[in-house]
Amino acid sequence: MSALEIARTANAPLNSWTKEQIKEIYDTPLMELMHQAQLQHRKYHNPLEVQMCSLLSIKTGGCAEDCKYCAQSSKYDTGLKAEKLVQVDEVMEKARIAKENGSTRFCMGAAWRDMKGRKSGMKRITEMISRINKELGMETCVTLGMVDADQAKELKAAGLTAYNHNIDTSREHYPNVITTRTFDERLTTIKNVQAAGLQACSGAILGLGETTEDHISFLHTLSTMERHPESFPVNRLIPIPGTPMADDLAKLPENSPRKLQFDKMLKVICTARLIMPGSKIRLSAGRYGMKEHEQFLCFMGGANAIFTGEKMLTTMCNGWDEDKAMFAKWGIKPMASFRRLDNTMKVPSSEATKPVYVSASS
Ligand code: SF4
Repeated sequence: MSALEIARTANAPLNSWTKEQIKEIYDTPLMELMHQAQLQHRKYHNPLEVQMCSLLSIKTGGCAEDCKYCAQSSKYDTGLKAEKLVQVDEVMEKARIAKENGSTRFCMGAAWRDMKGRKSGMKRITEMISRINKELGMETCVTLGMVDADQAKELKAAGLTAYNHNIDTSREHYPNVITTRTFDERLTTIKNVQAAGLQACSGAILGLGETTEDHISFLHTLSTMERHPESFPVNRLIPIPGTPMADDLAKLPENSPRKLQFDKMLKVICTARLIMPGSKIRLSAGRYGMKEHEQFLCFMGGANAIFTGEKMLTTMCNGWDEDKAMFAKWGIKPMASFRRLDNTMKVPSSEATKPVYVSASS
């Protein structure tokens, strides 16, 4: 059986993928790959629903890590001013605005290496989580760097829905991007999060000078986890002046295979949809600046979540009004909170092979 057939006929997400199988899927002619990804998408999700999330930076800049693409690293001069952890009321106000505009998940990011010795920070963040849950009924996600098992449990106890910790790129390419923490340390945080009963949100940044082999490799890492990430963010790098990555990329010749082309991004999305069918695929940083038809193709390939709002951490973000107008044009509805969080769900066998057609009013 071909890898594509295995993906399409399974009745639940599989985590036994080999790199060879993933490559076989990734190398499928794009027209066919998109068609199969769309059928897979309809088997596990309502294709007319896209989750709207907003992401707020709650502690900006001054990070001790050396991620070569990041404006918030203290190692690079990007002109960004480091700030302290914001107050709970300020966050509540932003979350309220996000909810009023249709966002159902509120994500908060702090530019920290880890949570070691951050007792008062943790206390304030757990208060944010619990108030957003109770007062606004929104899903919550935080990204605070590395967390140990106890910290993950503390966040879970506060009512956190998901914890974001991206693997960024392949294990092989990773040392070219970050040297201050290892790929395995990233995986340990994801394990801690999942062991605490939190959903893991973990994805990649495309356009870090990686090759297609790197795409296959990071997809392999994520799709062979005991439990797939509930959310797979797909970021497209916007090079930030002052970061080493911006300099590195500027030196690549135009026809370099290490330069990201849009068709490769689509292949990543379609392949992810086929091998991690229950996960949400989240168009993240870099959507700003994508043409509308490119976004449309990403949704057709299986993306079903976006970041929307005033800003995305320190970078520009498509605004709510723009996104709502785009959704209305295409008949897309914002996903309600707490939908389909169980990414291990099974598809009833009678439905496993037939495509699901969903009416615009459902
Ligand atoms: S850990 Fe996060 S905030 Fe810190 S440098 Fe890396 S990407 Fe930036």
